[in-house]
Amino acid sequence: MSEFSQRDEKENAPVNWSVTAVLGLTFLAAITVVPWYGIVHGYSGWAWLFFAIFMVFNGIGIGSGYHRLWSHRTYQAHPALSWFLAVMGGMALQNSIIVWSARHRIHHRDVDDNDKDPYSIGRGFWFAHIGWMLRDYDSGAIDYSVVRDLEKDPVAAWQHRWYWTLVWTTNVAVPLFLGWLTGDMLGMFLLVGVLRLVLSHHVTFFINSLAHMWGKQPYTDENTARDHHLIALLTYGEGYHNYHHLFQSDYRCGIRWWHLDINKWFISTCALLGLAKNRKRAPAFKVLRARLNMEFKVARQKLEQEGVSSRWREQLETEYAQFVDTIKEWQQLQMERVQAGRQKLAERFETETASFTSRYRELEMSLKMQHKRLALLTSQVM
Ligand SMILES: [Zn+2]
Ligand SMILES: [Zn+2]
Repeated sequence: MSEFSQRDEKENAPVNWSVTAVLGLTFLAAITVVPWYGIVHGYSGWAWLFFAIFMVFNGIGIGSGYHRLWSHRTYQAHPALSWFLAVMGGMALQNSIIVWSARHRIHHRDVDDNDKDPYSIGRGFWFAHIGWMLRDYDSGAIDYSVVRDLEKDPVAAWQHRWYWTLVWTTNVAVPLFLGWLTGDMLGMFLLVGVLRLVLSHHVTFFINSLAHMWGKQPYTDENTARDHHLIALLTYGEGYHNYHHLFQSDYRCGIRWWHLDINKWFISTCALLGLAKNRKRAPAFKVLRARLNMEFKVARQKLEQEGVSSRWREQLETEYAQFVDTIKEWQQLQMERVQAGRQKLAERFETETASFTSRYRELEMSLKMQHKRLALLTSQVM
C-alpha cells in the first residue's frame, strides 16, 4: 500500500455518528435556539446564575478532577471532594474518568506522534480540537492497560459504571428541576443544559488545540505544548501547557502566584479545608534548570546573527560552563542524599537533612542569579 493510501485510510476512519450528532446538535442549538429564546422571552437571573456556577464547576471537575487528580495523581483528595469532582466532571460530557485519563496518559506519553497521540496537533487544529472524536480513529482506541490504578479507584470505577445515568441526570434532569423550582424550565434547560455544555466542551477542547499552537515555550521545545495567559484564563489554568507537559506530576500548571490557574487555587483552598493533601510540586531546581536550558538555546541562536561581539560570545560560554557545573554539583548532592538515606544514620540524620536543604537552596539561588544575568546578557543583542 502506498504511503498516500495509508494516510487516506487513516484519516477516513468510520464516522462515530452518536458523538457527531451530540456535538453537532448541541452546538447548533447553542447558536440558534439559545439566542432566539433570549430575544423572545429573555432568561431569568436564576438561569444565568446556575449557568455560571455549573460552567465553573464543570471546568473544575475536568481540570482538578479528571486531569490533575485522576490522570496525573498530583494530589490526594478526601472522598467528599472526589465525589464532587466525579459528578461535575461527568456532567461536562467528556466520557468517564477512566476513558478520559487513558487517552490523556497516552497523549503525554506519545505527544505529537500522529499515529499514537489521540489528539495530535500534527494532524491540524480541527483534528486536535474536535475531529479526533468524530471518527473512530485507531489513534483514539482506548488502552485500559495504562489506567489499571483507576479501575481500582472506587469513585472512578463507580463513575465509569454509572456514567450515562450521571450524564442524563446532570444534563437534563437537574436543569429541568432547577427550572421548575424557579419557574422557567425551558430557559434553565437552554442555559444550564445546552449553552453550558457547548461552552464547557470547547473550552476544554482548546487545551488540545490552541494550547499546542499559541504561546511561549519557556521550559521545553521538545513537544508542541505552549504557555499562554489568555488560554489559561479560558481553561481555568490548563493553558500553562508547556510547563505541564514537562512537569505533569505537579498539581500546578501556572507556578507563579499571579498565574491565572483557577484549578491550582481550587486545590489549594481544598487543602486548607482539609479536603486535599500531599500536593506534589516539581523541585524548584529542576524547573529553573529547564528554564535556563531553553534560555541558553535562545541565546545560542543569537550567535548566528551578525554583529555579535566576541566578548559577548565569551560571556555566554562562561555562563554556560557555570550552568553545567551547577547541574553537576546538584547531581552530586542528589547522590549523596540517597546514600545518606541508605545508611540511615539515625542520630545524624536531622543535621544532615538541614545541611542538604541549605546546599539545595544555594544551588537554586545560583541558578536564579544566572537566570537574571542571562536575561541581561541576551537583551544586549537584539
Ligand atoms: Zn497536551
Ligand atoms: Zn496532562
